[in-house]
Amino acid sequence: MSIETNLLEIKKAIPENVTLVAVSKTKPVSDLQQAYDAGQRIFGENKIQEMTEKSEQLPQDIQWHMIGHVQTNKVKYMAPFVHLIHGVDSLKLLIEIDKQAKKHNRIINCLLQVYIAKEETKFGLSEAELLEIIHSEEFKTLKNIKIVGLMGMASFSDNQEIVRSEFTNLKNIFEYVKPYQLENCSFEILSMGMSGDYKIAIECGSTMVRIGSSIFGTR
Ligand SMILES: *Cc1c(COP(=O)(O)O)cnc(C)c1O
Repeated sequence: MSIETNLLEIKKAIPENVTLVAVSKTKPVSDLQQAYDAGQRIFGENKIQEMTEKSEQLPQDIQWHMIGHVQTNKVKYMAPFVHLIHGVDSLKLLIEIDKQAKKHNRIINCLLQVYIAKEETKFGLSEAELLEIIHSEEFKTLKNIKIVGLMGMASFSDNQEIVRSEFTNLKNIFEYVKPYQLENCSFEILSMGMSGDYKIAIECGSTMVRIGSSIFGTR
């Protein structure tokens, strides 16, 4: 099936209040252009160099989301143009994003990544670490970042009940921190769900799904 057909199918399957991030990592610019021509404006990449190269070749009204793990020394390359960083998992990284955002006179939107899976390999904060960051004095001084929500990845499991319980756990954490509001912190977005599990994620309260292979084919 064509990229356009896949995209329209997914658009049909997700409610209007759920934002679709088209995950285009490893895919050629021509594939992204096809998705763009079909109306898609939000793309997710997990490598900064690839994201930068693609952003230079594609229309300027695209919102670029960094969905991969971010190393502190790479922040400076995304700071001029990134729209949302999904995988923020330390105060140190937030401080660096704030510093680089300031240089470009921007406020960079971030999601805090929470660890919900059973697997050892997934990045992210525990609930306690998340609370420690947002309640810290240093966090309150950061004026050039804005925490706009949470992101998480479920286990790669065929067991839907495991996946469902992990997403439900993240949704509960999201509801718990939601009343906590600062100038640089307002929990509006819950980014969870990929090609294999986005339907469950939406049932569990996701407001943003990150879908790659179901749009662009396997990588
Ligand atoms: C690759 C990736 C996705 C998309 O995965 P698909 O299974 O291709 O939909 C979503 N989120 C993150 C963080 C990813 O790295």
